[in-house]
Amino acid sequence: MAAGRHRVVIVGGGFGGLFAAKFLRRAPVDVTLIDRTNHHTFQPLLYQLATGILSEGAVAPPLREVLRRHRNITVELADVQGFDLDARTVTAARPLGPPLSVPYDSLIVAAGATGSYFGHDEFCQFAPGMKTVDDALELRARIFGAFEMAEIEEDPEERRAWLTFAVIGAGPTGVEMAGQIAELSRRALKDNFRRIDPASARVLLLDGGEEPLATFGDRLSAIATKEIERTGVELRMRTRVTDVGPDGIVVQGPEGEQRIACRAKVWAAGVQASPLAAVLAEATGAKTDRAGHIEVQPDCTLPGHPEVFVVGDMMSLGHLPGVAEVAMQSGIHAARTIKRRLQGDAEAKAFAYRDLGSMATISRFRAIVSFKGIKVGGFVGWLMWAFVHLTFLTGFKNRFIALFKWTSSFLGHARDERTITMQQAAARVIAMRVGVRPGEEDLSRFTRPPEEGGPSAISGERPAAP
Ligand SMILES: Cc1cc2nc3c(=O)[nH]c(=O)nc-3n(C[C@H](O)[C@H](O)[C@H](O)COP(=O)(O)OP(=O)(O)OC[C@H]3O[C@@H](n4cnc5c(N)ncnc54)[C@H](O)[C@@H]3O)c2cc1C
Repeated sequence: MAAGRHRVVIVGGGFGGLFAAKFLRRAPVDVTLIDRTNHHTFQPLLYQLATGILSEGAVAPPLREVLRRHRNITVELADVQGFDLDARTVTAARPLGPPLSVPYDSLIVAAGATGSYFGHDEFCQFAPGMKTVDDALELRARIFGAFEMAEIEEDPEERRAWLTFAVIGAGPTGVEMAGQIAELSRRALKDNFRRIDPASARVLLLDGGEEPLATFGDRLSAIATKEIERTGVELRMRTRVTDVGPDGIVVQGPEGEQRIACRAKVWAAGVQASPLAAVLAEATGAKTDRAGHIEVQPDCTLPGHPEVFVVGDMMSLGHLPGVAEVAMQSGIHAARTIKRRLQGDAEAKAFAYRDLGSMATISRFRAIVSFKGIKVGGFVGWLMWAFVHLTFLTGFKNRFIALFKWTSSFLGHARDERTITMQQAAARVIAMRVGVRPGEEDLSRFTRPPEEGGPSAISGERPAAP
């Protein structure tokens, strides 16, 4: 790091943070990118990790590898916990050693969003959301594990419960998950079992709204409804999930209250901004909305702090949606502003979002796309979806792998990434037992000795060393 150079700290290596970092490659700045995971998660393809199509490496490449040629960037594995906006420092807990304190001249915060259980966080141990690689691996273990349990189960009612999958929330993630669980049960698992017929699995997609993928408008929603039902998914709209337990869910719908026995459940119903938005709001007096997004100035900075940018899923600006394209473009906008200022151009320029449309897959070869008034469904929509996702997937090797896997999964029957472990299936329950909320794991707790707050001090369960 050269002395006297402008220091940029970026919090988060998701779409916003990574694109900001890449844009600063040749700028006369030293960048520190802090993320609490070692990878960049391509969230739009997490559902393919959860349903055995792609591996974790293909959807979540290591940040150090992605940025290895960016000599002015240092990657830090640490969990950011606070900001001192007067002293201009970021504090973060590392898995080992004392907390990290990183000074900055410009700060870009892109910590994204987490799942929201609308005040019922207790649901999360039974119905994991899908925001992280951990979430997707856990869901993969629960989904493929449910078929294994059904094969062993003698009691017909219990077996039915193992073969009933509930996906809560009929937005893009819920639709993609339900479609893929239905496909794997009907195609990919064919001939794999001897006592059960995987194709008899029941896949429920539940939502309190009127139609699935409502943000795409009535026409595409209607196409999506038809396609979803064609895959064999049982679509239940105007149905709210009021309780979630280990053995099933309780729903309130047009037919009144009903209990549905099901073991594997996926929560795809809501999001809330990273808690760091509230920390920054308190420090700057900026407002937050109901989902915790922080209101930013038109140029993505915080009031009274032109050196602090908040981008991507954390920010509230106009009515911009929480999508990858907004995160990428706002990250680049922040980086470009920093570069401009260093060249002596201090004018504040508003962030102008270029809408590149939205898309969602429903099943093999079926997707809907809305782009500048053009609305496309079916196979053409799927080709557009495949092209866009291959273009944005990080790294040539991952694009090649994705193309190969899609060919073998969608043209053939293969689901190669089906290795599950019992640890993955039980991860959430264990984490919650030791007092860690999923998605907010503090690795350092597991590496510290007990007298400094390590595992046995939390759970009291680890046997004493002999
Ligand atoms: C399942 C799913 C499917 C999606 N599908 C689509 C789609 O098809 N099309 C689309 O456009 N958008 C899609 N999205 C939305 C899109 O992925 C997000 O809008 C985008 O990822 C937001 O980028 P971001 O940089 O703001 O946050 P993120 O990509 O979430 O990145 C945040 C980063 O910050 C890190 N972080 C968080 N807190 C801390 C902390 N305290 N300390 C250190 N690091 C921290 C995280 O580890 C993460 O790497 C999908 C999202 C999900 C969850």
